[in-house]
Amino acid sequence: MSQHTERTKQLMAADRRHVWHPFTQMQAWEEEDFPVIEAAEGCWLVDTDGQRYLDGISALWCNVHGHRVPQIDHAVIEQLGRVAHSTLLGMASAPSIELAERLAALAARELSPELSRVFYSDAGATAVEVALKMAFQYQRQRGNPERTRFAALGSAYHGDTIGSVSIGGIEVMHGVFDPLRFEVLRLPSPHCYRCPLELSRSDCALACADRAAAILTEHAASLAGVVVEPLVQGAAGIIVHPQGYLARIAETCRELDLLLVADEVATGFGRTGTFFACSQEGVTPDLLCLAKGLSGGYLPLAATLATEQVYEAFLGSLTSGRTFFHGHTFTGNPLGCAAALASLDLLEGGVMAALPDKVARLERLLAAQVEPLAHVGQVRQKGTMVGIELVADRSTHEPFPSEQRLGHQVVVEARRRGVVIRPLGDVVVLMPALAMADDELELLVRTTAEAITAITEA
Ligand SMILES: *Cc1c(COP(=O)(O)O)cnc(C)c1O
Repeated sequence: MSQHTERTKQLMAADRRHVWHPFTQMQAWEEEDFPVIEAAEGCWLVDTDGQRYLDGISALWCNVHGHRVPQIDHAVIEQLGRVAHSTLLGMASAPSIELAERLAALAARELSPELSRVFYSDAGATAVEVALKMAFQYQRQRGNPERTRFAALGSAYHGDTIGSVSIGGIEVMHGVFDPLRFEVLRLPSPHCYRCPLELSRSDCALACADRAAAILTEHAASLAGVVVEPLVQGAAGIIVHPQGYLARIAETCRELDLLLVADEVATGFGRTGTFFACSQEGVTPDLLCLAKGLSGGYLPLAATLATEQVYEAFLGSLTSGRTFFHGHTFTGNPLGCAAALASLDLLEGGVMAALPDKVARLERLLAAQVEPLAHVGQVRQKGTMVGIELVADRSTHEPFPSEQRLGHQVVVEARRRGVVIRPLGDVVVLMPALAMADDELELLVRTTAEAITAITEA
């Protein structure tokens, strides 16, 4: 493990002295071996020792086509030859205009022509933050100033700014900030493997959606909107919602005149098998949050799409107070927009068409190699999003003691075998690039199965 070159040792030492890693207990990091990535090729990452790793998580869920994709590299280099950054305050830029047009056309085709207004920011959290502020201000300007609250799902994850953390529902991440969080109406997460209503999927008739509708109805007068990760709650542990749940929530929102905010930061751009998750249940949100895969995973770029109806509520005279006072320095960054345009060309130029075969292959591999393992409780898959839940006992779903950090151990073992995956507690997450080659998918699943066996059956 520690056959590092001198240069790698120096970089690792400097990292330990100066870099504060996200979501990381830095005291434990001191003891850990970690790769220092310096290059990549296709779906492979290369570290400073020349070791190669198959990137099984798309550089944290964003890299749609793999790394150093010639078409995207070219688009960014071309844009660099023109301008790297200019502002959208008081002026416009060609790439941000072209991308907005493209996103609106895509939304029109996949969801609804109503979703025609694009507000840029630079991260998933900011895309959600923008949606929250838009929804809040929209209700005021429509004469509903008492509609100030939001409803969100249990175990929700929407990013790490205070607004996103407020609607988040993962206690271990968000609980410490309780005094800073605004109050949120919580709907039970529709997690069938650990059903909050203790029902079973075969005969529950979506009781969780009835429960959600009842809660929303009771509180509708004080609610601005409902925020959901459609179809799959990613950071909660790749919780795949039962079919029909999203459509029911959307229907309830329509009936109660609540804005539906779809956080497709993780699910967008093909992840769930379709361009957007919402289209699988025929749902059009009022606000649609996009980030991660938007730029093909190349650059920090995000967008919040709003319907014409939301947009119109912000129009008025200069003194009407209806202006949306929100913006980021790098709003609509031209490099990010150029990368996004090239990524969309690839998605529409064949990647989406090839996706159903990839997804089916992934499903077959998981069924054959991972599902039978003694300590795999459930394999959850939607498109190329995969969560493998490790349990001490398959019949009772009893988890392993969390201090054993089984998920973490599996991930370290997989990396030793040349594959990068990530844990969410004891859920092992695979999130391959949509364009990952068949033999690489096979290697990803085989190595994951071997690592799980090595750790849980040791
Ligand atoms: C990753 C993620 C975010 C946050 O995105 P950042 O770019 O990390 O701020 C928000 N919502 C969902 C569903 C995500 O998966």
